[in-house]
Amino acid sequence: MPGRTVLALDIGGTKMAAAVVDRGGRVSAAARVPTPQGRRLDGETLWKTVLALLDRFTSGVGAKQVVGVGVGCGGPMSWPDGHVSPLNIPAWRSFPLRERLQERFPGIPVRVHNDAVCVAVGEHWRGAGRGTANVLGMVVSTGVGGGLVLGNRLIDGASGNAGHIGHVVVEPDGPECTCGGRGCLEAVARGPAIAAWARANGWRHPQGTARDVADDAARGHAVAIQALARAGAALGVAIASATHLLDLDVVAVGGGLSQAGPLLFDPLEEAFRRHARMEWARSVRVVPAALGQEAGLVGAAALVLSGSRYWNAD
Ligand SMILES: [Zn+2]
Repeated sequence: MPGRTVLALDIGGTKMAAAVVDRGGRVSAAARVPTPQGRRLDGETLWKTVLALLDRFTSGVGAKQVVGVGVGCGGPMSWPDGHVSPLNIPAWRSFPLRERLQERFPGIPVRVHNDAVCVAVGEHWRGAGRGTANVLGMVVSTGVGGGLVLGNRLIDGASGNAGHIGHVVVEPDGPECTCGGRGCLEAVARGPAIAAWARANGWRHPQGTARDVADDAARGHAVAIQALARAGAALGVAIASATHLLDLDVVAVGGGLSQAGPLLFDPLEEAFRRHARMEWARSVRVVPAALGQEAGLVGAAALVLSGSRYWNAD
């Protein structure tokens, strides 16, 4: 099917993106819009925004060449039926995203997976894990998520959540987590947790985000540097455990926070090397994700384009 393409969607709490992706994983004609916000926003209004975004592509001349639709959406969701309840999109609770898209695109496959899973798939297929068989892909931003490729195949687990490293425990007596537990990686290393820790330790920036922490750390602010180092160390501890459990080749760390560079990755690497002591774990490479904000779109397209490698649900 040379020349044929997939329509890819990436739906998150702050923005929604759509693009045409070809069989080589090349993204063209990407469009991004802010995700509508507001307490009174209802699910149908949000759905209309998605349809309007898609219409930009399907009214084009290449519409007949679209062979499928791949979607990455914020979790949690029921998988593989794609009823989504994204934490950061309160207007959708058990919203039947996959069914709605299937009604809009009859006769071609429509596949929906967790957005962090799509990032992991994108990084394995065309990014930092390309050419290796065993990859953990991670997203570190407002939350911490991940997806897992072993033996060149996406591992789904019982409910589609395999690879979700965000709720691996790194400090048994650590801070409370949004999941109701304590000391999860996400509770220490997600963006809002980094900013909150910095504030609690004297960083004077009442509305500041993790991006502001990273900016201040780059300017030499001691508390900001410590805040990133703490998050980096937590990531290193979790990744060391994951490599022992899973025998990986590459861990690709993406999401907004991965832009912080050595101020995050140096303490991450130090903690990882301190804890990853078995011989097979020492050779693992922990690297920044390579595809940037396109990773989710590329991975969503791969759900459709790569046969059963990344999709075994139906
Ligand atoms: Zn948790």
